[in-house]
Amino acid sequence: MSKSLQAIRGMNDILPEQTPLWRYFESTVARLLDNYGYKQIRMPIVEFTELFKRSIGEVTDIVEKEMYTFEDRNGDSLTLRPEGTAACVRAVLEHGLTGAGQPQKLWYIGPMFRHERPQKGRYRQFHQIGLEVFNIDGPDIDAELIVLTWRLWGLLGIRDAVKLELNSLGTSESRGRYKVALVEYLSAHLDKLDEDSQRRLKTNPLRVLDTKNADTQAVLVNAPKMADYLDDESRIHFEGLKARLDAAGIPFVINTKLVRGLDYYSKTVFEWVTDKLGAQGTVCAGGRYDGLVEQMGGKPTTGVGFAMGIERLILLLETLEQVPEEISRQVDVYLCAFGEAAELAALALSEKVRDQLPNLRLQVNAGAGSFKSQFKKADKSGALYALILGDDELAQQVIGFKPLRGQGEQQNIAFDALAAHLATCVVQG
Ligand code: ATP
Ligand code: MG
Repeated sequence: MSKSLQAIRGMNDILPEQTPLWRYFESTVARLLDNYGYKQIRMPIVEFTELFKRSIGEVTDIVEKEMYTFEDRNGDSLTLRPEGTAACVRAVLEHGLTGAGQPQKLWYIGPMFRHERPQKGRYRQFHQIGLEVFNIDGPDIDAELIVLTWRLWGLLGIRDAVKLELNSLGTSESRGRYKVALVEYLSAHLDKLDEDSQRRLKTNPLRVLDTKNADTQAVLVNAPKMADYLDDESRIHFEGLKARLDAAGIPFVINTKLVRGLDYYSKTVFEWVTDKLGAQGTVCAGGRYDGLVEQMGGKPTTGVGFAMGIERLILLLETLEQVPEEISRQVDVYLCAFGEAAELAALALSEKVRDQLPNLRLQVNAGAGSFKSQFKKADKSGALYALILGDDELAQQVIGFKPLRGQGEQQNIAFDALAAHLATCVVQG
């Protein structure tokens, strides 16, 4: 195929055989978030470039090198959203959703775009489910975010494969004091730092902490620790969070090098990581961003949130073989009809059955075909039962009912009794 007719590298089709798992995942999360009282918000996929520069920060990987930015026909600089928080805050401010200190518990789902090197678990168009909470400033809500993800891992059967890492970045004042100490220490070891870290030392020194370079990591062993610079307020907040996680029985480890890629975090940061997916092990990440709304022109408004990577969680479900069998079966009953008269009767009958059983997954054969070919299609559809309608059955106003999996004899059911009969043998979700 010529190149212009292929999908863009790092942007994937999600094929019909994969969508049942996606839908299972998405509906499990949606139901959970409903139950915890979160409301969905939907933002545009494209925003003014300035929004991301202002919120994410100019010297982050995302803004420096990962954004899909282009000029539209009016000459405005637009960007495909690389993450959801910025747009969510923009929407909240634009519509006054947090006016007068009103709390908001919001969630969103959708594609994000980053120009990264595509590999397993890392794509250029990927999907996130994100949560953002505004105007609730205690550790109780930080804990709720973590508790509900823990519940989600339980529902999905992947609890044993993920680990919670926690850190506190303090307020911007205490982080400022820490930055000074860190820069002083690292500057004294400048020659042992990798090139990237030397650059970050000048632009975004905290990012040096999550370097992958072994030499730099060795230097970091004796570097000052954020924990020693935490202000009282942040320390009490962090203790409150840990106490709640203990109360909920959620294991965690403190990772003092956890700083997150974005500029806007303060106090709590956390990541759920797995060792089952290779290098792309973070499946969900977030934290508190108490200064962001004000930084974006709003009144002081606290915030906390996270985003999970759907592709990585889908990969994890597949890797751990936690894909429920029933999700791939999408047909309960397959109706085969032979000849014009039977087809017409089948159409009328099937619509009547759908009226009575709105949740029945009934597939009516299309494209005619011999008995053998229709039966093959019925079997391949995964249906539990086949319905068979030919001239003989039509004459008697009955339809053949044949179990396709397991025991049970074929029998004839009167048209009028069909819906009631199906109701007894098909479990309706
Ligand atoms: P990473 O360190 O893996 O690059 P990140 O810190 O850039 O992640 P966030 O911006 O916190 O990621 O996004 C939250 C989650 O979204 C990540 O934990 C991950 O599960 C997912 N994610 C981020 N970037 C990608 C990507 N390019 N492809 C697939 N999933 C991604
Ligand atoms: Mg990244």
